[in-house]
Amino acid sequence: MRVFNFSAGPAALPEEVLRQAADEMLDWHGSGMSVMEMSHRGPEFMQIHSEALLDLRELMEVPASHHILFLQGGGIGENAIVPLNLFGVKPRADFVITGSWSQKSQKEALKYGAAHIAATGRTAEGFTHSPPKSEWQLSDDPAYVHLCTNETIDGVETFEIPDLGDIPLVADASSHILSRPMDIAKYGVLYGGAQKNIGMAGVTVVIVREDLLDRAMSICPSAFEWKTVAANNSMFNTPPTYAIYISGLVFKWLKRQGGLAAMEARAIEKSKLLYDAIDASSFYINKVERRARSRMNVPFFLADETRNEDFLAGAKARGLLQLKGHKSVGGMRASIYNAVPLDAVKALVEYMSEFEAKHA
Ligand SMILES: *Cc1c(COP(=O)(O)O)cnc(C)c1O
Repeated sequence: MRVFNFSAGPAALPEEVLRQAADEMLDWHGSGMSVMEMSHRGPEFMQIHSEALLDLRELMEVPASHHILFLQGGGIGENAIVPLNLFGVKPRADFVITGSWSQKSQKEALKYGAAHIAATGRTAEGFTHSPPKSEWQLSDDPAYVHLCTNETIDGVETFEIPDLGDIPLVADASSHILSRPMDIAKYGVLYGGAQKNIGMAGVTVVIVREDLLDRAMSICPSAFEWKTVAANNSMFNTPPTYAIYISGLVFKWLKRQGGLAAMEARAIEKSKLLYDAIDASSFYINKVERRARSRMNVPFFLADETRNEDFLAGAKARGLLQLKGHKSVGGMRASIYNAVPLDAVKALVEYMSEFEAKHA
């Protein structure tokens, strides 16, 4: 039996995608091989790879000025890979800290150069604020400005993306990529690990503007040098073939669903249902300012935290799984990515209301 899975990542995948992968497991399209047994340079995998790239370009409307790379190393890997690729000329960058992930990005960049904190969204209540550009104190001539557009742990999403002129904006979009249309032309670099909203763990999507390929530090490992990876169509070394295949199935599923505008409408509906339930009760609390509430990751607390274990046990008994908040913030967190159906959120809201009626 399939459960309602609210995991923050690796996270729920569309059931249709899992069924198709199961059907094709032993024999992909008459090749007599599983995708994971194929040469990455053979015609079968080349087709899977190029279709995935094309479908992603179409879904995200990635302009011709930007390359799409399939890398490895995840979001945390990119925390090093970004400065290694952009600090060649001036080893300094600015960071807007909206939560735990951007904080990690800033700390990692310090290994390779200067990492100035331009703004922080930390308040007495934790990370609850996404500082608008008017609050950013940029340094003089940074190589880039880094922003995490959706903070998975803190539930802070940034919707207004400012124009920084000549300064490239680098965004960690790991946990909301593909949840809504984004104007890719505004970004120098946009990256995301696959295991939240793209597919399975193992592949990292990096979208990078052509003119930023020439700024790598000489110590940058070849396998992570965007210029080298781009020149080799993401096949400089063996790519994570099965993870790319699963992403490709998800891209086709997204196209059948109506693309990113349709995903955005669904994300608005699902997140509104949950936030409205939280706001309507004093039993549940979410502290993030409304304009920055994440549509993908909804953290919430019980007013009476001694009931946390009870709440989770009751949820589990109903097939509502992986609702425990990240250990650094506690409480609960419902991750409601593209593959989490509206019915899952309805079931959660219903359970929350019954739990409250029983214990308030
Ligand atoms: C999950 C996540 C990461 C880390 O990804 P890994 O694949 O574990 O390296 C980084 N940034 C954000 C915003 C995330 O949600």
